Amino acid sequence: MEIRRGLLWMIGAAVAATALSIAAAQTAEMRGVVLDNVRIIDGSGAAPIENGRIVIERDRIAQIGRAAAIAVPAGAETVDLAGRTVIPGLIDLHFHIENDPKLALRQLSHGITAFRDPGQWDEKFDELRRMIAADNIPGPRIFTTGPHIDGENPAYPADSVVARDREEARRLAEMLAERGASALKIYFRLPFASAKAVIDVCDAHRIPCTAHLELLDARELIAAGLHGLEHVTSFGVSLLPRIEAEAYRQAVLKNNDARRDGRYRVFARANLDGAEAQALYAVLRERRPFLDPTLAVFERRNGGKRSNAAAMLASGFTKMKQLTRRAAQEGARVVMGGHSVVPFAARGEAPWRELELLVDSGFTPIEAIMAATTTAAAFLYRSDQLGALRPGFNADLVVLRGQPDRDVTAIRTVERVMVAGQWVDMAKYREY
Ligand SMILES: [Zn+2]
Repeated sequence: MEIRRGLLWMIGAAVAATALSIAAAQTAEMRGVVLDNVRIIDGSGAAPIENGRIVIERDRIAQIGRAAAIAVPAGAETVDLAGRTVIPGLIDLHFHIENDPKLALRQLSHGITAFRDPGQWDEKFDELRRMIAADNIPGPRIFTTGPHIDGENPAYPADSVVARDREEARRLAEMLAERGASALKIYFRLPFASAKAVIDVCDAHRIPCTAHLELLDARELIAAGLHGLEHVTSFGVSLLPRIEAEAYRQAVLKNNDARRDGRYRVFARANLDGAEAQALYAVLRERRPFLDPTLAVFERRNGGKRSNAAAMLASGFTKMKQLTRRAAQEGARVVMGGHSVVPFAARGEAPWRELELLVDSGFTPIEAIMAATTTAAAFLYRSDQLGALRPGFNADLVVLRGQPDRDVTAIRTVERVMVAGQWVDMAKYREY
């Protein structure tokens, strides 16, 4: 009886506390929230604003700039963020949900306020959407593509739809686009004519077409209108002299697993100043496709081992970083994709590792942040609402203790995360 009464009292207190906090949240929403005395990196590539102020009204940024230039609205709730840096919410463009919806919420507590899964059935997001609704939070923002479109003998059967010819590819692409895919993804066994049919459907629906190539020649597909590439290894065969390229192609056609070590061998051998690479750069300059290099998933370290295999993998990876930087210099628009689970990052930290590897590859920290914010939003075709801290944009932002423009590893010092104007429960999702 005592226990029961105690329990009832606890429930009553919890309900009252929830009602109070909802009332407080609504009031703050009405009058606005001011983030004060803060350094601002707005995602545009501009130098940080020292001593900044951000006014948030409901789910949007109302005003942003130097504190001296912006008045504090009457009745607004002010949060003093002296010594902290605010950046836009990070966008992870290569997140595989698999059967782990909690990972998306853990990543949210790491500052990832939006993600795209580049190839998965929509049903796989039901559980995450249910959790988001139950917790009454407005994020992370989910962008889906449906399963990827592959040819026969698909590399990942459970995540694919198989198109046996051009017409089937067109019909599948049309079906996925009509079901609300925010992008479509071509997989590497799809023949050129079928891939082109998918690109055409994307153009008609005004959504981007991205691809994991390897067997298809990136130069041909980008010239044919492909909007983006997943994995720097998608450039693989386009870097080799044609006899070697065909040998690699046939090996992978025979067995999808031939690419596991094979792609490191391709990169270790590739000449980034050779005739093939030059032809690729010419297409990059002309078409400016997006490139989601997903370096973290390919990261290999020699670790002082003397084996030839380890040395080959490490040198292949070094070339992947070099090509990522070179591709950007030639016009590719590099974005950030964490790839969920990678060899050298703890759970939920793949996006942070990817940003560090971009800086390792020669990008400035500010450029790396752009890859995960404004450039990523451009690849989502959402440049008018996401990816930057600008009046009218969604109030998706991350508060850091460190200064990532000086040292990119400060991206790991996430203190608070806001999505659509609402603070995220950090303690809860860090346990996920
Ligand atoms: Zn992937």
